[in-house]
Amino acid sequence: MLAYRHAFHAGNHADVLKHLVMVQVLRYLGEKEKPYWLIDTHAGAGAYKLQGRYAQQNAEFENGIGRLWERDDLPEAVADYVALVREHNASGALKHYPGSPALALQLLRPQDRLRLWELHPTDLKLLAQHFGSQPHTEVHHGDGFSGLKSQLPPPSRRGAVLIDPPYEMKADYGLVVNTVRDALKRFAEGVIMVWYPHLPRLESQQLPQRLKSVAPKGWLHVRMTVQQPDAQGYGLLGSGMFVINPPWVLHDRLRDLLPWLTEALAQYDGANYLLEQMAA
Ligand code: SAM
Repeated sequence: MLAYRHAFHAGNHADVLKHLVMVQVLRYLGEKEKPYWLIDTHAGAGAYKLQGRYAQQNAEFENGIGRLWERDDLPEAVADYVALVREHNASGALKHYPGSPALALQLLRPQDRLRLWELHPTDLKLLAQHFGSQPHTEVHHGDGFSGLKSQLPPPSRRGAVLIDPPYEMKADYGLVVNTVRDALKRFAEGVIMVWYPHLPRLESQQLPQRLKSVAPKGWLHVRMTVQQPDAQGYGLLGSGMFVINPPWVLHDRLRDLLPWLTEALAQYDGANYLLEQMAA
């Protein structure tokens, strides 16, 4: 049941899109003094060694962050994200990749709060080692879908949620929709970020539409396709981020960088992106 380990995928093209968007959201929330919370329902191990056995197995990072590492023409928001990753790689060589908790900790201010959930005991142990003693951070062992309920709304009524499950079980798609619906009842103004894999399967293709139907007050949807299906018609084609109550600046920032990013991460000639939004 708990076969998924994010260490195999750390820093791949999907992490690039997810973390780039998350950084933009947190930068925006940090513009006002008032505290905000970030609740990461599926936190993973928190940070990854790219020279480790798992990351080296398919070296997915080489077609993700690895493609951006040596570029000197990064668009501003991409440069911002890559600079945060560079802080984990003091020697200049790409050896470490921060997960969402590590990136969040770089951006949170003393008044902000970080709440992390992880179910896998091994990743939980690593997460607790790295983040358990950080100020203003709580690491929870358990199901992040249900754990989210206990955190909403945050006392300051400002905050973001990252929902980033493995989707190895079909049930995750439905759980995401139900969790978002419930979260909006408790915290209608919250920024909710849902990552999803772009796969040649119905559940993945229907997810954005299902999320649109529970987010009437405004959303943004970005999807990048960088890979073709394999010979059997399977495989990760790319990924998407669905953001409910997005910062108003997010659409234009993504519009400006997506042509560049799609080309930089393309693994075939037909690589493309989709960017759509419904403003509140
Ligand atoms: N958010 C992380 C990042 O961006 O660095 C990556 C998370 S990874 C895609 C998904 C994680 O969710 C895995 O570490 C997995 O063990 C964990 N997981 C799976 N089911 C879960 C659940 N119901 N609640 C909390 N964590 C879960």
